[in-house]
Amino acid sequence: MRWFLFLLLGAFGWLLWKAWSRAKYRSTRAKQETKNDPSLPDQDPQTGQSAHKGPNEQHAQTMVRCAHCGAWSPQSMALSQGGQWFCDESHAKAKS
Ligand SMILES: [Zn+2]
Repeated sequence: MRWFLFLLLGAFGWLLWKAWSRAKYRSTRAKQETKNDPSLPDQDPQTGQSAHKGPNEQHAQTMVRCAHCGAWSPQSMALSQGGQWFCDESHAKAKS
């Protein structure tokens, strides 16, 4: 049964190392974030483009419901026809 003890010890050590490395990563990330000057213009340092149109922007979009199938889709993806919203062209056509 000695191998089992070693396995347990190894798993425990691995978990400990994993937790430690995660905590270390988090603290270095926090340091990097505090390094960023808040007075700088709101720009993405990698692309140089405005950070306003990030992936989070899509979550804040207005969701509209398809009048044909009832599926919810972002307003930018949906089609409006006759004051109603549709998830795609075929559904807009099907309603008219
Ligand atoms: Zn639809």
